[in-house]
Amino acid sequence: MHLAQQTVLVVMMVVFSSTLVMAAGLVLALRTNEAGRLWAVGHVIASGAGLVIAASAGEGSLQLGALGAGAYVIGRLTIYRGVRAYYGMPEHAAPLNGIGLVALVVMVLMSGLADGGTVVHTVAYGLLAMLSLATIIAMLRSARGHTSIGGPLVLAAHLVLFASQIAAVGYGAALNGVKGFEVTPFFLQSDSSVWPLAPLVAVLLGLFGFCLMSMEQIIARNENGARIDALTGLLNRGALDMTAIGMVARWQRDGEALSCLVIDVDHFKQVNDTHGHHAGDNVLREIATALDNSRRASDIAARYGGEEFCILCPHTDEHQATALANRILRKVRAIELPGAKGHASVSIGVAELRGGPSSREALWRSLFGEADRALYQAKQRGRDQFVLASSMIDETPVDDVLQAATEPQMIA
Ligand code: GH3
Ligand code: MG
Ligand code: MG
Repeated sequence: MHLAQQTVLVVMMVVFSSTLVMAAGLVLALRTNEAGRLWAVGHVIASGAGLVIAASAGEGSLQLGALGAGAYVIGRLTIYRGVRAYYGMPEHAAPLNGIGLVALVVMVLMSGLADGGTVVHTVAYGLLAMLSLATIIAMLRSARGHTSIGGPLVLAAHLVLFASQIAAVGYGAALNGVKGFEVTPFFLQSDSSVWPLAPLVAVLLGLFGFCLMSMEQIIARNENGARIDALTGLLNRGALDMTAIGMVARWQRDGEALSCLVIDVDHFKQVNDTHGHHAGDNVLREIATALDNSRRASDIAARYGGEEFCILCPHTDEHQATALANRILRKVRAIELPGAKGHASVSIGVAELRGGPSSREALWRSLFGEADRALYQAKQRGRDQFVLASSMIDETPVDDVLQAATEPQMIA
C-alpha cells in the first residue's frame, strides 16, 4: 500500500496532537519524578515541534520547518536527559541544552540558503540518529539486571527511530545517486509506503514506555519506603517480621541453622537527656551503620523499636552467631558519644531457632523471645556484652523473664 504525502501529514498531525495532550498531562502527573518530568516535558516540546514541521511541510515553508526541526531536536535532547537521570548518570543539562540551541539557530539561519533544505535535514537527522544511538547504548549498559516492562518498549521504540533515521539517509542518497549525503524526511518521501509511519508509531510506543518506566520507579520507591526505617536505612519492624517468617519457612524445609540477635543500646536515655534527641538520632545512625557493616550479605538487619535492633542470620548456628555479636560489640565501642562522654555500647541476646512442629509465626515468636530473654540477662550482668539463650536456661526465674521480655508484634 502506498500513502499520499497528504495522508502522512494528516497522520503526523493526529499523532503529535495526541502525544502533546498526553505529555502535557504527564508533566503534572510526573512532576515529582525527575526522569518522568524530563520525559514529559521533552515530549511536549517534541510534539509541538512535530506539529510545526507537519504544518511547514504542508505550506512548503523551509524556515518554519527549520524552526520545528530545531525544537524537535531540543525535545529529544530533553528526553535523553531523562534517560540519563533515570539510570543515575550525570545529566549534562548545560551542554545538551547548548547543543540543542546551537542546532536550532544553525538550522534557521541555513534554511535561507539555496541548499538550505539539505543542510536542515542533514543536521536534524544526524543529531537525532546520534541521540537514538546514545539512548540505546545507555539503556543496554544500565538496564542489566533490572526487571521492567517500560524499558524494553522504550528500547524497541528507539531501535525503530534509529532505523528510520538511517533509512532517511539511504532514501535520499538513492534518490540523488552518488551526489552525497542527501537526507529525506519520511513525510517528504514521494513514494511513501506504510513504512514511513513507523517512526510515528515509535513515538507513541516510546511515550507509553517512558510513562510505564516512571510509574515503575514511583511504585518501587513507595514499596521500598514502606519497608525501610527512615532514620537508619535498615529494615523496619514490618519488613523484619515478613522476612523472618520466610527464613523460618526455609529453616523448616532445609533444616539449616537460623540464629537471631536482639540488640539494645545501653543507657541511651542519658544520651538523649544530656545532648538532645538530634544528637541521639546521630548515635542511632552510627550504631545502625556498625551493625550493617558487621553482618554478612545473607543476614538481615532491622530496627524494630526506638533503640532496639535485630539481626537474623540464616545458615548460622549459635556458636557462629557469637562471632558476629563480638564484632558488633567491638564496632559499637569505637563510636564516640557526643561531648567526649565515652563510647557507645550495646547489650545483645543471641538465640538459635529450635522447636517442634509449630507454625512459622509461633517459631519466630519463640526465637525472638529467647533472644530477648538473653538480652535481658546481658543487661542484668552489666551491659556491653552478649548472652547466649542456651547458656541461661535456669538462671532467671521464668516469671521475671516473661515480664521483661517484649515479644515482637506478628503481622497478620
Ligand atoms: P538500658 O541500658 O536499660 O537499655 O537503658 P536505656 O536508657 O537505653 O533504656 P530506656 O528504655 O530507658 O530508654 C530508651 C530511650 O531511647 C528512651 C527514648 O527516648 C530513646 N529513643 C527511642 N527511640 C528514639 C529515637 O528514634 N531517637 C532518639 N534520639 N531516641 C530514641
Ligand atoms: Mg530499649
Ligand atoms: Mg536501651
